[in-house]
Amino acid sequence: MKKFVIEREKLKENARIIEKKAGVPVFAVLKADGYGFGMKQMAEVLKETGIRMFAVTEPEDAQRLRDWGYTEEDILVMRSTAMADEAYQVVQANAIATVGSPEAAQCLNEVAQGCGMQAKAHVKIDTGMGRYGFLPDQYAEIKKVYTACPGMQVTGIYTHFHSSFADEAATRGQYKQLCHIISQLEADGICVGMRHAANSNGVFRYDDMMLDAVRVGSAFTGRIVGGAKYGLSRLGYLESRVIETRTVPKGHTFGYGAGYVAKDTTRVAVVPVGYTDGFSVEKKRDLFRPRDVMRYVKNDLEDGRGKGNIYISIAGHRVRVLGHVGLCHVSCDVTGLDIKNGDTAILDVNPLYLSPLVTKEYV
Ligand SMILES: *Cc1c(COP(=O)(O)O)cnc(C)c1O
Repeated sequence: MKKFVIEREKLKENARIIEKKAGVPVFAVLKADGYGFGMKQMAEVLKETGIRMFAVTEPEDAQRLRDWGYTEEDILVMRSTAMADEAYQVVQANAIATVGSPEAAQCLNEVAQGCGMQAKAHVKIDTGMGRYGFLPDQYAEIKKVYTACPGMQVTGIYTHFHSSFADEAATRGQYKQLCHIISQLEADGICVGMRHAANSNGVFRYDDMMLDAVRVGSAFTGRIVGGAKYGLSRLGYLESRVIETRTVPKGHTFGYGAGYVAKDTTRVAVVPVGYTDGFSVEKKRDLFRPRDVMRYVKNDLEDGRGKGNIYISIAGHRVRVLGHVGLCHVSCDVTGLDIKNGDTAILDVNPLYLSPLVTKEYV
């Protein structure tokens, strides 16, 4: 028995905190199936909190939202594309395209004209993310998108921060580059439309970068650097139960590689959750800062030798996993605790890494 539980109220409370902090309209970013929480359910809950703008990466996700009844909402497709089939999907979904290159502009313009329509678009500036966007020195090309594409109605301009969670100087530098282009366009008499830059950490760390809108994804899940400090709740947990309890003697070993040796008679609770479910796979993939990488390398070296331990919760007790996490199980030290078969076990898993075989349940 295992399921991933998501509390609607927590998501709503996070949304309220975000909307209040932003003070401007929020694009709820629902990429990667709503960061693993389920795009459809996330959209439903967020609509209830007043969200009226969504952002996705895949053109088909824009159509999916339309099919689910989000017909009035603005939907921004955040990646630029020079592929006509994708531009067509964006136009058909009546979504806002992202235009980040002359090729993408030409493609969207032609596709929209071919459909006898005017496509909505936001111009993207690449200030260091390195994937989509005009370079800041491509001013002539940027201006052309606004002035020389009759198949498009350009209603906004934006950039994306690469280090808003850690590096204020870099973030301010990116912001300045965007603002500089906006000033140039305005000086040329162009109405740039909606200006936006801040992502989750941008919203919580820099009060002066909200512009006309923000694009927030991970903050809804509470899983951002400093999340608790901002009052955000960590959303979602994996629930399972103790299926067996046993007692083993001093010297008994645990897991592959016998990574842990019992120092004394040990009472053990077994919970049938492991790597296959996504437990304990996140930390290595989710690292950005060198000091975090160092910390985890150190923890790994010390793993099984008394430090760098992994913990789960059983019947409200924080208990330690003994030895390495298995593919399908963990063994936990419950010596001296009143823990019995069938007790509820709670494990922290980022749903981005959750096995698709595990059911998600909104409560
Ligand atoms: C993912 C993404 C966001 C949201 O980022 P969070 O830090 O999760 O809030 C915003 N804008 C773009 C372009 C993105 O790709």
